[in-house]
Amino acid sequence: MTSDTTTAVAEPVEMTFSDFSLAEPIQRAVAQMGYRTPTPVQSAAIPVVMAGRDVMAAAQTGTGKTAGFALPILQRLLPLASSSPSPARHPVRALVLAPTRELADQIFVNFREYAQFTPLRVACVYGGVDIQPQIAQLRMGCEVLIATPGRLLDHVGQKNVNLSQVQIIVLDEADRMLDMGFMPDLQRIMMLLPPVRQSLMFSATFSEEIKKLGNTFLKMPQLIEVARRNATADNVTQQMFLVGRSDEKRAAVAHLVRTRDLKQAIVFSNTKIGCGRLARELKADGLNAEAIHGDKSQQDRQKTLDAFKAGEITVLVATDVAARGLDIAELPAVINYDLPYSPEDYVHRIGRTGRAGASGLALSLMVPGDERLLEQIEKLIGRKLSPEALEGLPVRSRVPSDHSTGSAETRQRSARSDRSEHSERPERPARRTQADRPESNYRPRAQLPGWSSDRFFYQPYEPSAAAVAAEAASASAAQGAATGPASRGVGARRGSRSVAALLGGKVPG
Ligand code: AMP
Repeated sequence: MTSDTTTAVAEPVEMTFSDFSLAEPIQRAVAQMGYRTPTPVQSAAIPVVMAGRDVMAAAQTGTGKTAGFALPILQRLLPLASSSPSPARHPVRALVLAPTRELADQIFVNFREYAQFTPLRVACVYGGVDIQPQIAQLRMGCEVLIATPGRLLDHVGQKNVNLSQVQIIVLDEADRMLDMGFMPDLQRIMMLLPPVRQSLMFSATFSEEIKKLGNTFLKMPQLIEVARRNATADNVTQQMFLVGRSDEKRAAVAHLVRTRDLKQAIVFSNTKIGCGRLARELKADGLNAEAIHGDKSQQDRQKTLDAFKAGEITVLVATDVAARGLDIAELPAVINYDLPYSPEDYVHRIGRTGRAGASGLALSLMVPGDERLLEQIEKLIGRKLSPEALEGLPVRSRVPSDHSTGSAETRQRSARSDRSEHSERPERPARRTQADRPESNYRPRAQLPGWSSDRFFYQPYEPSAAAVAAEAASASAAQGAATGPASRGVGARRGSRSVAALLGGKVPG
């Protein structure tokens, strides 16, 4: 960063939203959201963004950074707001880029609420869904556009949107954008923007790569750090459990949910196939579980998310891409079924709990061989996570197939399918189709320099015949259970209604 750069480390200063001199319609919306005092990142960012400066902000997850940029942006755009119905009077003036559909949608929901008493129009476009309604929305005009990069470029290509009047650009979750290979798309988008503009970069973590990115497109930014770099929230209790074998992890998850009496939890798996399988196994185990990952349609993902937010699902098994940006207030726990390949993902994952000041529990499972992943996490968060044994795990915790017993042939088969599981590429955005460009130019980590060159880590997933048969049998059993009368018992085991409620949107009564 240039020498003119200054850093603001947000201190817990007692402020109120009226200290910012925000316009009345914005203050009214904030009051309606129930926000009383600004969070530290808001206290630090709002005045700086209002003053028109570039910002590079590293904030803990769940600290209210969306309002940290949305409120001052609305304030800056308000003098230009028009009540005319003509689309020409509503050009895109602020562009917010987010790495995933879920995060884009969440920013959109928040922005729309903050703008509800102003004539400013807010729209959102992302891939994986029908492009036509988005075209209709863009044609009506919007001052604030929230977008994932790939779909935005589609719209630009089809001349559905013009970015020549953009005055403010926000890169949210910038670290994830880089991680997902969005850099070329970002560069193309930047070329379409006027050179004189305000640029804001928000990132939950603050790596050297992020600083480099900041150098390329921020001008004398104000650095804002509301917490130690890559710190995890203090109100999240973290525990690491050492499990003897991979095939005991499913039982360990069920055990933790039951013994900790978790009303709801997100369980993170590194792979899509592992995610789907774990959800099915937990269901068979009597837990009300559903999977959410990038191979599911956007409609399915939204339905599952809505059900989870409404408390109708106890365990949401998710991959990192699918869970990005999830904002569930009062989510009691996050469980890492797999330790993430990237330590930054650990910070993001556990940031799903303990949001907006609530307390949270982050429970992680590791098996022998995961030591390197653990070390990387400990290095990033700057503290030791001393693994402990998981007491009281039921003896019948093994997958009852050929994993623990059986002939040499079945053991070999089991090893093969285990390896196939690990060989599956990490979760990534949906594939490009005519109607839907990919969300990124993501390269599996296995293909990145310095990553293992073992072919099992990057070849496409090829299930063994036995695995296919087992998968089909378990899928049809699950379907039978879901449609048959017996299914009513499954999931109905949940005693009390879940506590999760969505802050910053509809708050269930
Ligand atoms: P974010 O970090 O932007 O995802 O925000 C996390 C959650 O905090 C969201 O549910 C927001 O609605 C909520 N939030 C943001 N600002 C405040 C505030 N000043 N007071 C209370 N809740 C807030």
